Parts: sequence; C-alpha cells; structure tokens
Amino acid sequence: MNNKLHEKLIDWYELNGRALPWRETRDPYCIWISEIILQQTRVDQGITYYYRFIDRFPDVESLATASEQEVLRLWQGLGYYSRARNLHKAAQQIVQSGHNWTDMARNQATLFHFLISLPGVGEYTAGAIASFAYNLPYPALDGNVYRVLSRLFDCDMAFDTTQGKKHFRQLAEQLLDRTRPRLFNSAIMELGALHCLPNAPDCHSCPLQTWCKAFENNTVDLLPVRKPRPKVRDRYFEYHIYLTPDWHTLLHRRTANDIWKHLYEFPLNEYADGFPTTDIQCIGTYRHILSHQRIHTRFLLHKVTTLPNVAECITISLNDLDTYPVSRLTMNAIEILDRLF
Ligand code: SF4
Repeated sequence: MNNKLHEKLIDWYELNGRALPWRETRDPYCIWISEIILQQTRVDQGITYYYRFIDRFPDVESLATASEQEVLRLWQGLGYYSRARNLHKAAQQIVQSGHNWTDMARNQATLFHFLISLPGVGEYTAGAIASFAYNLPYPALDGNVYRVLSRLFDCDMAFDTTQGKKHFRQLAEQLLDRTRPRLFNSAIMELGALHCLPNAPDCHSCPLQTWCKAFENNTVDLLPVRKPRPKVRDRYFEYHIYLTPDWHTLLHRRTANDIWKHLYEFPLNEYADGFPTTDIQCIGTYRHILSHQRIHTRFLLHKVTTLPNVAECITISLNDLDTYPVSRLTMNAIEILDRLF
C-alpha cells in the first residue's frame, strides 16, 4: 500500500509543490535557518527574513561571531525571539565543537544526536535537516504533517501531548518513504500546507483520498485534536517615553526570563489588573495578542528638560533608536513618535 501512496503523493508534489529558496539547497546551515524562521511564521514573510539572514550570515561561522544584538535586530518583527537567541547560541556551539556536518552525516545516529543537542532544535528540526540536507530517513512532523497524519489514520489522540507525539512519530515512521525521505517529507508537508487545510480541505481531488480513513469515516472536520489550551493571561504594560528638547530618551533592556528577553524598550511599569488613572499625555494604546497572553499597552509621553534617573536604563539619541533590537510594541511607539515629531 505504501509504495502506491508514496508514488501518488510525490507525483502530486512534483506538479504542485512551491519553488521555495530552501528547497533549492542541500546546505544544512541554510536549511536549519529556514526551518527555525518558518516555525510560527508564514512562508511569504519567512522568505524575506531568510534572504536577509543568509545575506548577512552566509555560514555558521559568521553567525557565531556576530553580536546577539545584531542577530536580534535582524530578527526584529518576526516575534518569538527565543528562536533567534537559540540560533545564535547553537551556531557558537557548532563552531566550538569543531564538528563537520558532512563527516557526521556518514553516521546517521551521530548526526541526529548532535542536531538535537543544539539549543532550539527539537525532533522536527533535526528530522528536517537530516532528510532535506542529507536525504536520511527521518520523519519531520510539523503542524501540517500532524494534521495530514491524524486524518489519514483517523487518529483522535491529541498530537501535542507527550503520548500523542510519540504515537504520531510511530505513524510517521511507518509511512515514511525510506528510499526518498527528502521528497516524501517535502511532499507531505506541502500537502498539509496547500491541500489538507485546517478548514475545508479539498478531499475530492486529494492524492491520498483512497487511503484516508477520516475521509472514509466522515471525521475529517473533527481532526486533528489538540490538548486544551491554557487560559490566556491579561497583562498591562505602561511605557514611559521621556523626551528632551535635543531628542534624547531612555531605553531599558529586558533581562528577565519573560517575553522579549534581551530586546530594548522604553521604561515600563507593568500592572496585573488594569491601568491606574493618569494625567500624563497618552500618545497611543494597543492590544497585542501572543499565544497565551493578551498585552494591553499604553504609551505615556513625558517632555522633559533633563532625563530622570530610571534604574537600569541607558540614555540614547532618538536618531540611534533603529540600531537597537526592539519588540513589535516598541516599534509601534517609534512609529507614533515619527508621526508626532
Ligand atoms: S482526503 Fe481530505 S482529509 Fe484526507 S488527507 Fe486528503 S485532504 Fe486530507
């Protein structure tokens, strides 16, 4: 059964797969960068960042020797900044280890073990690099593949639990085309991205319809199943923008183990239950939604003759703001300042 299924799927992919830059390379470094960028990012947005990253850091050595500030600055706007911090740390780890990826590929287990030991690299990314760069027989299960597998096998186990991940990995191992893992993984991911969509999948023209248990059992719309999501937490961020007549301001670097670690922002007061009343000029309000947090924001403007002494802040000229990596919210504040002054 699998041979026929592989043939159908790969034929479909060869006709319908998108030409994407990371599919045209076998360089494990470029594939790794693309896979990290594409986590939580749309392909069209990812392409811009991929080129930007590869242009500036064409190899693992150039990424390893860059400053974290520069890496974060290049990542700015993509969100989930731990991905950029981990990429940077992993590049340093690779360079320090002196490992040569090509030599390691001669021993599949060593390569996979090494990949998965890198910060930010899990089973999915390690499988993607091993199969796309070296054509090694490892499955690569991203959200699209989980969806296709859950429907193909009519499996209603939550795929994002420990037990679910293990089960779906077994299904993926069972289905993998071991002679053409690179093509097979690309094809099944693409089927999920273009065809077996979360809503209204096009089952009638699907190359896998003959084998699809959910189609047969009329359960397509019920799959895939996720574990219940944690409650969304509300946070209230009040940013204080101090501005002197010669255009200087204060910035703070986030250091806590929290969102936007190591990014810069204006001095912040955080409240848990809403903002207090204020007489200070408010120049903008936003609501920023993250996966488990809803961040209510307001920007308060203080026109001052001299900057106050605020703990752990640095003084910078407004003209230099764009050399600092900042969060989406701080970018919003900068856009407001550009419009106002
Ligand atoms: S038949 Fe429908 S549900 Fe099954 S794999 Fe194809 S598109 Fe997905």
